[in-house]
Amino acid sequence: MIPFLESSAVKPKAIRGMNDILPDVAGTWRYLETIVREVVESYGYREIRLPLVEYTELFRRSIGEVTDIVEKEMYTFEDRNGESLTLRPEATASMVRAGITNGLLHNQRQKLWTAGAMFRYEKPQKGRYRQFHQFDVEAMGYAGPDVDAELIIMCARMWRRLGVGRLSLEINSLGTPDTRARYREELVSYFSSVKSKLDEDSIRRLGKNPLRILDSKNPEMQQLITDAPVMLEFLDEDSSQHFAGLKTLLDAAEVPYTVNPRLVRGLDYYNLTVFEWLTDALGSQGGICSGGRYDGLVEKLGGRATPAVGWAMGIERLVGLYEVCGGEPRIGTPDVYIVAVGDAALGRGFELAESLRDALPAVQVQLNLGGGSFKSQLKRADKSGAAYAVILGEEEVARGEAGLKPLRSEEDQINVPLDNLAATIGQHF
Ligand code: ATP
Ligand code: MG
Repeated sequence: MIPFLESSAVKPKAIRGMNDILPDVAGTWRYLETIVREVVESYGYREIRLPLVEYTELFRRSIGEVTDIVEKEMYTFEDRNGESLTLRPEATASMVRAGITNGLLHNQRQKLWTAGAMFRYEKPQKGRYRQFHQFDVEAMGYAGPDVDAELIIMCARMWRRLGVGRLSLEINSLGTPDTRARYREELVSYFSSVKSKLDEDSIRRLGKNPLRILDSKNPEMQQLITDAPVMLEFLDEDSSQHFAGLKTLLDAAEVPYTVNPRLVRGLDYYNLTVFEWLTDALGSQGGICSGGRYDGLVEKLGGRATPAVGWAMGIERLVGLYEVCGGEPRIGTPDVYIVAVGDAALGRGFELAESLRDALPAVQVQLNLGGGSFKSQLKRADKSGAAYAVILGEEEVARGEAGLKPLRSEEDQINVPLDNLAATIGQHF
């Protein structure tokens, strides 16, 4: 039994790793999300809204059995039909599924974005949560590398618009499935030769998915990983050209990058381009935005072969970076606070508030509720952060006027006929 249902003396708890985004911070979230949306839409991406829950099988088949997500991070449950469902741990699989189920990929190309909550059973810590939020962008039907470059250049534009820095870009190419198969053999023989030094996860992966060993975050594994054979040396001609094409376009756009031949990304479906934007500003949770190409996934999930590429960005970490970089908090405050003292004034206050909202839909008008003396209402007006107080007392009402008091400057209060108030306030916003 959940304790707080038993007794009202025990306060309810939120689930570990699942956060309330409080109003003071939600303003910043919305600001960042708006800018990101504006940027991606300016590149021709259109919104798609997807369910939070999918058949478990979708994630097993797309992300891969031997991955952190599928092995230990999914929120999986049986619904009342006995079907196995999973709260989405990421958006690409759902995006591809939606493309197939809705016939969006037949002789068409799609540039799509979506955003929302993702769920992974991870160890909660700063920048790592169990419910977190992503902005996700996918281009389907494009073989690249032009679109790969554009997706990365689009990120660089976002960082400039948001005024965030301390970011670096790493790129790599995973080649074709053939390249990977040859590289895989090479890796298996290398890691087998040092098997006694491998950790438990890596030993398990050696048989099933040796590339994933390169993705290990265990510090004790890093030297072995550094000494491992390098994937880029195995690339075939076409893959090399694809990668060179990406680099040329990034160079031309003056987007700096480092080639990190050990960047493999934690999911199975990637091929060719993979990339990650990292920051040193948030401690060990440095991954802000990452993505890559997954040319085989649509076909693997039952659609017609369709090349595709995309990225996902963590909103919590973006908010963190924005704050570290000195981004202005976006706390929603009213523009105008109406102080109305007495019953007659309150009646006029309601009328006035509605007429101001009619005339100035973009101006935020807050009417004092719950009464109070002139002094206490004015105090609330000040505390609200509003730029102006509109003052309605009995005298003002009798004269058909209101006092307009600037709260954030030294200017004097003026009296304005009620009919002129909207026009006067409109001049200031
Ligand atoms: P990490 O290496 O930090 O675990 P990841 O490789 O698992 O990240 P992706 O699956 O590529 O991350 O997701 C893209 C982005 O989503 C990450 O760069 C990060 O910003 C964010 N992200 C991923 N997992 C979490 C989480 N548990 N909490 C908060 N943000 C997350
Ligand atoms: Mg992870």
